[in-house]
Amino acid sequence: MGSARPEDIERVLLTEEEIQQRLREMAQQIDADYADRDLLLVGVLKGAVMVMADLSRALEHETVAMDWMAVSSYGSGTRSSGVVRILKDLDTDLSGRNVLIVEDIIDSGLTLSWLITNLRSRGPASLEVATMFRKPEAAVAQVDVKYVGFDLPNEFLVGYGLDWAEKYRTLPYVATLSAHLYA
Ligand code: 5GP
Ligand code: MG
Repeated sequence: MGSARPEDIERVLLTEEEIQQRLREMAQQIDADYADRDLLLVGVLKGAVMVMADLSRALEHETVAMDWMAVSSYGSGTRSSGVVRILKDLDTDLSGRNVLIVEDIIDSGLTLSWLITNLRSRGPASLEVATMFRKPEAAVAQVDVKYVGFDLPNEFLVGYGLDWAEKYRTLPYVATLSAHLYA
């Protein structure tokens, strides 16, 4: 299990237990909603690997398929531009499938809204979104998200799939980083 130096962590916002409990609740809801339909989970690399692994295993649904996309957002700085390039596309034909996009976190929602438009054009029977975390600004992009784990404050977070220069991704909890790291 991932770990961090205690002095690097400022504040733990969600413990491992809280995340796993919420995942079980989300899984129950998804199981109920997809009881009589096939389900294809589409994860966005790399942040969604943790939620994909835990959510998919918490589902009791018998026919859960999984596929992955890697995308990169064009643009300068740390803000998402909404202009997206596909680095790795799906292997699966989406026509007639019940697709559930699995995301780690929705910030501006620009990446996700591009993804929804892209996947919808491939003719799925249904298309919904599950995200573990969501920030307040996500409201701006008006993305319709059916399953949300937690609404979190507008701070830079690490853990449970969220990295800082590839560090802290494997932490089982979600935290903010100490200011000394940014200095
Ligand atoms: P957006 O919704 O702005 O288009 O982009 C969301 C993506 O930005 C997420 O998939 C994630 O990779 C990254 N992101 C957004 N907020 C955070 C955060 O607080 N911490 C980390 N590590 N990544 C974030
Ligand atoms: Mg992501």
